[in-house]
Amino acid sequence: MPKINSRPATRIGYGFDSHEFRAGIPLKIGGVKLDHDRGLGGHSDGDVLLHAITDALLGAVAAPDIGALFPPSDAKWKGADSIVFLREALKRVRGAGYAVANMDASLILAAPKIGPHTSAIRMRVANLLAVTPDCVGLKAKTPEGLNLENAAIAHVVVLLQASRNTSRGKKRPRRR
Ligand SMILES: [Zn+2]
Repeated sequence: MPKINSRPATRIGYGFDSHEFRAGIPLKIGGVKLDHDRGLGGHSDGDVLLHAITDALLGAVAAPDIGALFPPSDAKWKGADSIVFLREALKRVRGAGYAVANMDASLILAAPKIGPHTSAIRMRVANLLAVTPDCVGLKAKTPEGLNLENAAIAHVVVLLQASRNTSRGKKRPRRR
C-alpha cells in the first residue's frame, strides 16, 4: 500500500469573495477603515479581503468554509467584525499543526484607489496573521472590461508550513 502523508510540510489555500457597494455604510478592507462614500454590503461588515483570507486559511486545512461556519442568514453575524472569522480560521490552522508562511492577494475594484492604503492594509493583515508585512502581498486592480463597477472582489492564496512546536513530545520512530 502507498504510504499516506497525513501531515505535509506545507499546504496551500485559496479564497475568493465579492461584495456589492452600498451607500451609507463604512468601507473596511483588510481590517482597515477607508474613507469612501460607500461601503460593502452583505455578510457581516463586508470586509471582502478578510473573508477571502479566512476562506483561504480554512481551505488550506480542508475545514468548512466561512459561509458554513458563519451563515449569512444568522442575524448574529450582521455587521460583525470580520476579524472574528479570521481568528476562528487561524485557530483551526494552529489546531491542524500549521502556521502561516505567506499570503498573496489581488483586490479588484473601481474605487477607491487602494494604492495609498496598501501599506496600512498589509501591516494590519500581517499583524492579524502573525507574520511580517513582507509576507503579505497585496495588488489592487480596476475591473477593466468586466462591467463590475459596483463590486469589490478579492482573490487570496496562502501558504502554511507545519509548525515545529506541534511535534514536541512526539516520540521519533526508533531506527532498526
Ligand atoms: Zn464576504
